[in-house]
Amino acid sequence: MKITDLKCAVIGSTPVVRIVTDEGISGYGQIEASKPYLKPHVLFYKEYILGEDPTNVERVMMKIRRMGAFKPWGSAVSAIEFALWDIAGKAAGVPVYKLLGGKVRDKVRVYNGSIRFPMTEYTPEAYAADVARMKASPQGFTIVKEGIGFHGAMATAIPDFYYGEINQAARYANRGMLTERGLKHIVACVEAMKDVLGDEIGLALDLGPGFTVPDAIRLAKLLEPYNLMWLEDMITGDYTPYVLADLYREVRNHTSTPIHTGEQIYLRQNFRELIETQAVNIVGPDPADVGGIAELKWIAEYADLHGVLMAPHGVLDGLIGLAALVQVSATLPQNYIAFEYPSANPAWWSDIVDGLPDPIVKDGFIEVWDRPGLGIELNPDRASKYLPVGDEDFFD
Ligand SMILES: [Mg+2]
Repeated sequence: MKITDLKCAVIGSTPVVRIVTDEGISGYGQIEASKPYLKPHVLFYKEYILGEDPTNVERVMMKIRRMGAFKPWGSAVSAIEFALWDIAGKAAGVPVYKLLGGKVRDKVRVYNGSIRFPMTEYTPEAYAADVARMKASPQGFTIVKEGIGFHGAMATAIPDFYYGEINQAARYANRGMLTERGLKHIVACVEAMKDVLGDEIGLALDLGPGFTVPDAIRLAKLLEPYNLMWLEDMITGDYTPYVLADLYREVRNHTSTPIHTGEQIYLRQNFRELIETQAVNIVGPDPADVGGIAELKWIAEYADLHGVLMAPHGVLDGLIGLAALVQVSATLPQNYIAFEYPSANPAWWSDIVDGLPDPIVKDGFIEVWDRPGLGIELNPDRASKYLPVGDEDFFD
């Protein structure tokens, strides 16, 4: 089998990758919905993979993997990897999880990081109301994640939250030392959320990046009585093109609250220090940024050898990304906690993807399906109307 074309169309705001072969089998991949600008980056790799046998996934990846980087520049490589596995599974007539070693679980736990209700205030009452809505959601999530601290609008909405100057420019990374008031405000919001969730639903917090090491330690210790699932990305994180594992290790050594990072990191090599020095308790690579699903599996296995847990990121990965997450998560070792559930974005994505269970999430789990490849298909009849001008031939 040979790759005859690599296509990319932005559907909604999501770059969708299609790899075409000479045997009539196509494979699909998807980039986060926040990155419509990556279409040319996908097409950049076309000349490197044309003519290759897509079922030799690793051999194809060796031709393009070195030309990627931390988020957002690992996305195109990752989405191509999804599409290669999709083809390899379809060609073999088996679900991708079989090619990754087989499933070790029949259903995968997911956590809520994507079903969101607009918040206009960042008070304890507002956080309590927000998690109450999440608790009532029909998916029955057993873990929910909430943005707080430097993640989201709290730092700008709460006066005297920290000693730095707030810059509200897009993607600007505010960071600095918290005021005592800021620190106490976070704790009060957590207390309010735990009052609602009790011990029925686990609470994880996405906090940064932006914390100083002493503040991260102080907060993690203050939150110990609440038995949180994890504190995510306090020091570095989303769109930070480096890791600072030694600083994470300092935090992790001072608290029993689990510390988590990893969604921006590209490739297993860049997880090595985090894992080998046990700088965090939990790693959270995103398969759509880290270099793909096999890359994520290697990291999970290596983390497991070092007593580090795994909770993959995925909030914006869309429904093709969801399929990739289900396939790989079915195969991960017992250090697997849950992956971040990506919902259809926008909602009409549900109409153009065939093969997903209905409902997708039941009691906080997704049942692993057994169709070949990623086990889902874009429906050309229903998807065509969303193709942008110039990409009408995407499914041809
Ligand atoms: Mg995060």
